[in-house]
Amino acid sequence: MDIGTLDIGPMLKDKYGIIFGVANKRSIAWATALSLHGAGARLAFAYQGERLKENVEGLTADVMPNSPILSCDVTKQVEVDETFRRVGEEFGRLDFLIHSIAYAPREALEGEYLDTSRDAFVTALEISAYSLAQLARAAVPLMTEGGSIVSMTYYGAEKVVAGYNVMGIAKAALEASTRYLALDLGPRDIRINTISAGPIQTLSARGVSDFTTMMKHHAERAPLRRNVKAREVGDTALFLCSPLSSGITGEVIHVDCGYNIMGI
Ligand code: NAP
Repeated sequence: MDIGTLDIGPMLKDKYGIIFGVANKRSIAWATALSLHGAGARLAFAYQGERLKENVEGLTADVMPNSPILSCDVTKQVEVDETFRRVGEEFGRLDFLIHSIAYAPREALEGEYLDTSRDAFVTALEISAYSLAQLARAAVPLMTEGGSIVSMTYYGAEKVVAGYNVMGIAKAALEASTRYLALDLGPRDIRINTISAGPIQTLSARGVSDFTTMMKHHAERAPLRRNVKAREVGDTALFLCSPLSSGITGEVIHVDCGYNIMGI
C-alpha cells in the first residue's frame, strides 16, 4: 500500500525544549536535537564540563544559532537550579526535556557485576537514574502548558547483557522511575517515556566492554537485520514530544530494529 510521503511539518513550532547529553556529533542527544529542530522546536542544550562546551557550540552554530548552551553537571544541584533558572529566563516556559545522560566508572563495566564497589554503584545510579527525577522536578514549574520528558535506556535493564553490569541495574531503575514519575506527572498533563535504543557507536558506548561484538550480534539477530541509527531514535523522541503520542506515558519504547522480541 502506498501511503505517500509523510510530511509532519513544523509540528513543534513555538515549542521549547532542553536537551541533556550532547557530547559530540555521534551523541544520541544530537540526533534527537536534529529531529526536534526539523519539526520547528526551539532548543537549549545542557552539557557537562568545559571541554564539551566547544563541541556543543560548534555543532549548533550553523544549524540552530542562538540556542542557549548551559553548563550542567547533574551531580551538582546548584548547576541544575541555575540551568532551569536560565531556561525560564530565555524561554519563559518548557514543553519538553530530553534526558540522554549516563555514566558508570570504567572499572564497573569490566569483569563481574559481583565486584561492583559501593562508590561505583552509587555514582552510576545517581548520574544515570536519579537524575531523571531530579531534572523532572526542576522542569515541572516551567511546564505550565503540560509537557513531555524522554530518556534513553537499553535492553540490559530487562535481560542480562554480559559486561553491561551496573549500568543494567541503573537502567532498570531509570525504567521503573519512568513509571512512577508518570503517575506523579500525569495530573499536570506531563508525559514521560523512555526509549530503549539498540546499540549505537557513541563515546559512552566505547566504555562498554566488547561493544563491537554486541553490535554485530544485534544486527544478526534483529528482525530488520541491521543496527538502529541514532536518527531513528531521535525521530522516536520527536514522536514522544509531539501531540501524536498524547495518550502515551510511563512506557519503555524499543527502537532496536526488533531485537527485543526475539526468543529462539
Ligand atoms: P554520549 O554521546 O557519550 O552521551 C552521554 C552523555 O552523558 C554525555 O554528554 C556525558 O557527558 C553525559 N554525562 C555523563 N555524566 C554526566 C553528568 N554528571 N552530568 C551531566 N551529563 C553527564 O553517549 P550516548 O550513547 O549518546 O548516550 C546517551 C544515552 O543513551 C545514555 O543514557 C545511554 O545510556 C543511552 N543509550 C545508549 C546506547 C548506545 O548504544 N549508544 C544504547 C541505549 C541507550 P560527558 O561526556 O562529559 O561524560
